[in-house]
Amino acid sequence: MLSALEQRVLAEIDDAELIRWVQELTRLPSVWKPETGEGEEAAARWVEARCRALGLETHFEWAAPGRPNVIARLGPGAGPRTLMFEGHTDVVTEGDPALWTDPPFSATLRDGRIYGRGANDMKAGLVCALAAVQALARSGVRLGGEVLLGALCDEEGQMLGVKHFVERGWADRVTAAIICEPEENHLCVAQKGVMWLRAVVRGVMAHGAMPLTGVNSAYPLARFLTAVHGLEEREIARHGRHEFLGQPSITPTILLSPPRGAGEPQNNVMPGAAECVLDYRLIPGQDPDWLAGQTEQLLQAAVAVDPRLSGELTVLEVRHPTRTAREEPVVAALASAYADLAGAPPIYGGVPGSTDGTILNARRGIPIVTCGPGDIHIPHHVDEWVSVDEIKQAARLYVLAALRYLGVADD
Ligand SMILES: [Zn+2]
Repeated sequence: MLSALEQRVLAEIDDAELIRWVQELTRLPSVWKPETGEGEEAAARWVEARCRALGLETHFEWAAPGRPNVIARLGPGAGPRTLMFEGHTDVVTEGDPALWTDPPFSATLRDGRIYGRGANDMKAGLVCALAAVQALARSGVRLGGEVLLGALCDEEGQMLGVKHFVERGWADRVTAAIICEPEENHLCVAQKGVMWLRAVVRGVMAHGAMPLTGVNSAYPLARFLTAVHGLEEREIARHGRHEFLGQPSITPTILLSPPRGAGEPQNNVMPGAAECVLDYRLIPGQDPDWLAGQTEQLLQAAVAVDPRLSGELTVLEVRHPTRTAREEPVVAALASAYADLAGAPPIYGGVPGSTDGTILNARRGIPIVTCGPGDIHIPHHVDEWVSVDEIKQAARLYVLAALRYLGVADD
């Protein structure tokens, strides 16, 4: 049941403006272009301007040259809680514009959908968070805590924005975060983790006609990969299937011999080394550090047959899996908001990839829930779109979640 106060705050949402804002922000192409140093700045300035117009304490910070974060605060509140709404301003490349029905950054409104690169992932979610903050601010309600809006850069790349946000200490005050990524407004309480490892096996280069004058690196790499496949099967047996994320996996994604930077392959040359990249997708309960240690042991066992062989393992990236209990106050607040708005129980889910929330959770232990407007499967596709109905619902979900998570201070 919505209280009279909740209805009063929800009435501050202006749907026409909400849709117009999604279009405006989508029309600012925020694809990172390393060759020119152009990226999120125009989109970030757009968010900054709206936050300042609301009278919010607003910070514009460079996470890296050309890569800005915008952080805005509604508060301080009467209590210790700070709820963060998190979104990223960067979008992935539009690819070949000729493949699009409408120009990729036109934000065309048609049949209840807004089409455009980034409309779904995730200009719409970010605008919904902004509209929710605006409604809360305009209503004059005295919240029992603070709302912090983070419009961060480089989620699609190295996650420089959220890492900078954490390093600057912003995350220290955050007690819960809603990650506004496109999840069809489902409540995603688990996220897969990822780890990328590079293994290089070194032998001795030789003529293909006289292989015994060298040491082949391909066979030890093959033994290593077979052993890694066994590790994958043991991990699946040990951890089973997660209700939303399925089973974990270890996938060799790159196999190269000679390795990168070691010259051109030739039919009659036995290369001196071989490399592979392994893509681990992790479910809650798996420990990436332990897995990297196991993988190192398998690599050293594979090269132990000949003293002229060596193996080298490099950790390229680790993003831990996350899980948030449904009893966490932020999840419970969103769940009750969803039930009251939709007249149906919330739909729980999981995120197959990682998000900025992964960093907030891994580095500061912040409980996160990923919930935002937009079809789950459409990010990064040609003719990306977002549903207007889901946008309207998400803005209202965020308003209610903030009111219920933070509470309202007594006058
Ligand atoms: Zn995204």
